[in-house]
Amino acid sequence: MKLKLYNTLSKKKEEFKPISSEAVKLYTCGPTVYNFAHIGNLRSYCAEDLVKRTLKYFGYKVYHVMNITDVEDKIIRRCISENKTLQQLTAPYEKAFNEDLESLNIIKADVYPKASEHIPEITSMIKGLLKKGIAYKGSDGSYYFSIDKFPKYGQLIRLDRSEMKCGVRINNDEYAKDQACDFALWKAWDIQDGNVFWETELGKGRPGWHIECSAMSMKYLGETFDIHMGGVDNIFPHHENELAQSEALTGKKFVKYWVHCEHLLSENQKMSKSLGNFYTLRDLTQGKTKTKKFYSPTALRYFYISNHYGTRLNFTLKALEDSENTVYGLQEFVRRLSSVTENQSDIETNAIQNIILKTKSEFEEKIADDLNTPQALAALFSGISEINSVMASKRISKEQAEIILNILFSIDDILGLELKKAAEKRELPEELKNLMEERQKARQERNFKLADDIRSILASKGIIVQDSPGGSSWTIKKT
Ligand code: AMP
Ligand code: ZN
Repeated sequence: MKLKLYNTLSKKKEEFKPISSEAVKLYTCGPTVYNFAHIGNLRSYCAEDLVKRTLKYFGYKVYHVMNITDVEDKIIRRCISENKTLQQLTAPYEKAFNEDLESLNIIKADVYPKASEHIPEITSMIKGLLKKGIAYKGSDGSYYFSIDKFPKYGQLIRLDRSEMKCGVRINNDEYAKDQACDFALWKAWDIQDGNVFWETELGKGRPGWHIECSAMSMKYLGETFDIHMGGVDNIFPHHENELAQSEALTGKKFVKYWVHCEHLLSENQKMSKSLGNFYTLRDLTQGKTKTKKFYSPTALRYFYISNHYGTRLNFTLKALEDSENTVYGLQEFVRRLSSVTENQSDIETNAIQNIILKTKSEFEEKIADDLNTPQALAALFSGISEINSVMASKRISKEQAEIILNILFSIDDILGLELKKAAEKRELPEELKNLMEERQKARQERNFKLADDIRSILASKGIIVQDSPGGSSWTIKKT
């Protein structure tokens, strides 16, 4: 199967061809740890996880680096206002970030480098740019990248050179497209930086945000690597500047595929910390929204993937609740299959196999098309509904149920909805398992009185038994 990804650089879907057969090298811009990640940030991390899981599914090994931004304008402002060191301020948010990744079943990166631990790499890159005459020292003692010296500047965002303000300097990490000008690589210390500084050959100061990612990505992934991801707000200036610094220094292509996740919106506006219109994962899972409901992280994950990562997505609690119900239905389907104990079947295994192989290949085709998750999920649900209609009138055997489950689990390697866990939770305690078996035997012997009595005993223990012509299954009573 040919995997296609939309490349922000070429503005086209391109067939993915790895640089080396060893491992796909992936760099993703990580959190700026001055606050809890909001669910907009988490949408980008889930999209990155989806790309990684898809690559793995199609047989690639992936080496993934995600930085932790712990030196940055906003962090420093918070250190000053809260009278904390960089470490004191960032450590709790870094811990919370790790917990969020775990809750959302995001596969861990291989390395999480921090800017504060890579000052020598950063300064050596700046020195390299100075040597080439691409960087210069400003009258304020800071060092800047001269966009005039890099004719390809603006290629990611497609900037018109006539709109650029060469020679004009900007010291902030974040600025708008129409402010495109020389940007800071190293910021000379000033009083507002408080205790955040390093004494280096470039003087007392700290790195700019953009050079941090160039230095860390190239340290761990080499001068040219496969995929660089982030949210669309990272395209300019962050990724444009990363690209410029790296290619100006090495003379080589920096990244083959730039892939960006669109924004999560809240009330149709970008969800962001600065606008204050955000939810954290904790808000959703700990009943801290106006509905007071305890949503599962899996529902949030499903909400993200039920939409294409490249389109804007408006968050509502109602949509999250719909996702919760869909996930529950999917898990129930898995539980039902894993509770099949029948040896007999009323349908040929071939017929089952045809349904699931068709589902699998449609799912793969849609996923390979730039991760078209809405259509891939539609293919999955159409397969599930076919199986459901078979099971409504026919018995399927344990062996056939396992064939279906195996395909579902393999599809879930991409979706990450923890379907295997749902099936494992399915194991009844021994005593209840024996009761289920006894009841099955009673039904086979047409002893419906006994079957009903056992059903009541199970119900009193929170287990609801459902009978269909295809056999019996059980669910846990919803409280
Ligand atoms: P930050 O912690 O602000 O550096 O952002 C971390 C990641 O989240 C980056 O890849 C951002 O592009 C991404 N991001 C920020 N806001 C949103 C949003 N509303 N929707 C999707 N991704 C976002
Ligand atoms: Zn970055």
